[in-house]
Amino acid sequence: RAKQDGRNTFRFFEPAMDAALQRRRRLEHDLRNAIRKNQLYLDYQPQFGLSEGQLTGYEALVRWWHPTEGEIPPSTFVPIAEETGLIVPLGEWILKTACTYALGWPSDTKLAVNLSPAQFKTQDVFELVRRMLVETGLEPERLELEITESTILQNTDKVIDTLSRLDQLGVSIAMDDFGTGYSSLSYLTRFPVKKIKIDRSFIDTLGTNPQTSAIVSSIVGLGQSLHVTITAEGVETEGQAAMLKRWGCDQVQGYYFGRPEAEVPANPLEDEPLDRNVA
Ligand code: C2E
Ligand code: MG
Ligand code: MG
Ligand code: MG
Repeated sequence: RAKQDGRNTFRFFEPAMDAALQRRRRLEHDLRNAIRKNQLYLDYQPQFGLSEGQLTGYEALVRWWHPTEGEIPPSTFVPIAEETGLIVPLGEWILKTACTYALGWPSDTKLAVNLSPAQFKTQDVFELVRRMLVETGLEPERLELEITESTILQNTDKVIDTLSRLDQLGVSIAMDDFGTGYSSLSYLTRFPVKKIKIDRSFIDTLGTNPQTSAIVSSIVGLGQSLHVTITAEGVETEGQAAMLKRWGCDQVQGYYFGRPEAEVPANPLEDEPLDRNVA
């Protein structure tokens, strides 16, 4: 009887589950070959100093152009890569491609690369980064690695050791999506974090929600006290930029200042002066 019910229930959901599972298996299979088939590429989104308006660097963002499905967002395929172990070859490809590309920029332009928590679980991230820097010739000081609070949370001793060695090498660490995780702020004293990126969800409601304004201005103040650079991500309007500037936020990234683009000019400031006026 129970078996019968169970089976009926299962059958009821079967077609939809089947379709989702099949798509997922197909993507997993296709992702295995995506690097070799040149379906992956990187976009680069500019970051600017807010007081002077100067370009400070670019964040590399991975893209997958699937032959039949078109553009698949990283929020779909990065988790698949993490669960299947494909994040190892994918992460290596991203670092190598981005570091090589950054060699064509002015030497004061930094490169930010996202690292997934799964990379810290499955490989020696210090060795990976060191090897990629040696192979490409990019100076460690030009590389910034974006990690999230889930990386900090997972395996403290190993992660502290890896991040400290990267710091000693000259590579800097940025905390991405700040404010969305569950970890305590105490990691800021234990880990060599040089930059905090305030999550887009807080910037979204700046000006319409007094509480997010209070949170964001407090994070900016925290950064100033701790001597940590504060970057606001997802800045889409002049109004948001003006508020951030008034509070003394160091850097901005977002559609208002520049979208992620596949090719960036070697000297974007000469080619395309930043014409965003921030009161
Ligand atoms: P993230 O590292 O926080 O990247 C910022 C995301 O916000 C990017 O989405 C970017 O396109 C988007 N964005 C930037 N400015 C604006 C804006 O003004 N408005 C709005 N609405 N969005 C904006 P994307 O490229 O889809 O990446 C999503 C996430 O996927 C990233 O979040 C990161 O967690 C992950 N990801 C992307 N590339 C990589 C990678 O190379 N390696 C790893 N491990 N993860 C990556
Ligand atoms: Mg990021
Ligand atoms: Mg982020
Ligand atoms: Mg994110």
